[in-house]
Amino acid sequence: MSKILTIGEILVEIIAIERGNGFREAVPLIGPFPSGAPAIFIDQVGKLGQDCAIISTVGDDDFGWVNIDRLTRDGVDVSGIEVVPQGTTGSAFVRYREDGSRAFVFNILHSACGQIELNDKTRVLIDGCTHMHVMGTALYAPSVVLSILDAVDRIKAKGGTVSFDPNLRPEILDSPGMREALQTVLSKTDLFMPSGEELFLFANAQTEKEAIDELLAKGIKAVVIKRGQHGASYFDKDTAIDVKGFKVEEIDPTGAGDCFGATFVTFWLNGAAPQDALRYANASGARAVTRAGPMEGASTRAELDALIQSQERS
Ligand code: ATP
Ligand code: MG
Repeated sequence: MSKILTIGEILVEIIAIERGNGFREAVPLIGPFPSGAPAIFIDQVGKLGQDCAIISTVGDDDFGWVNIDRLTRDGVDVSGIEVVPQGTTGSAFVRYREDGSRAFVFNILHSACGQIELNDKTRVLIDGCTHMHVMGTALYAPSVVLSILDAVDRIKAKGGTVSFDPNLRPEILDSPGMREALQTVLSKTDLFMPSGEELFLFANAQTEKEAIDELLAKGIKAVVIKRGQHGASYFDKDTAIDVKGFKVEEIDPTGAGDCFGATFVTFWLNGAAPQDALRYANASGARAVTRAGPMEGASTRAELDALIQSQERS
């Protein structure tokens, strides 16, 4: 039986109800919503009934407990979440601009999850896992990078696998050691899951095909490219598959890539054909954008089946 692990930030997200440019005036807000890319990812994995765990740190405050309660409800092993009595759980305030882009105010580095470190208990948890998913957003602090690289090595040493979603926000790309950390993770990656320009971050190539060939030549077993409303594609050395997206009304795109990734990895680890894993992952990403709040649109297997059946009938 496989068990999927991720390590990284747990946050609450607080969303401005009205569109506009940032937070330099008082605006109506809604939240807190459980969030953090690794947390959204692992919540979606748990909702599919797949054994999984997260290592993170929260404060002993409502923002921490709203996350622990949700992850527990959805079937995630939360024994690796440390609750720091004097800590404050991380947060992200987000306001959508008129053009659909997002303005953020983050409190991550100096929040409880800025201090993630492994200990004897979390090392035992890691040794019970067979797959590690790395989120690029989680490489925000040196101690978190060390924890992630340690977990990757421990899991790979026992024959486990690694997936990697670079999930890069421009704000974090230039933080100290970030590019080196991304390169190190990539060199240990089995399944690489970029979206848009992220494909070219680690390739010299100019075209998509050349970039994929370059990545596969480095030893990556498979590349999955997310294409927003247009769906997604899968490539390995023998296969190239495009699957188009589902037609849904987009309310809030945050979390789509994380839910997509969680569903793809879960199906892939359970031996699904790439075509089927892509179809379910597309359904998961599509359902994610129909709900306000980053984790609110995570799906059960029955909900994915219902979306797939409804669109295959029409
Ligand atoms: P994120 O903002 O969460 O990091 P991302 O850039 O990693 O997102 P996207 O390509 O935006 O990833 O979305 C991931 C997947 O979700 C897509 O490949 C697609 O399957 C699905 N998806 C996203 N947006 C839509 C949409 N508007 N309609 C249908 N499906 C969508
Ligand atoms: Mg993403």
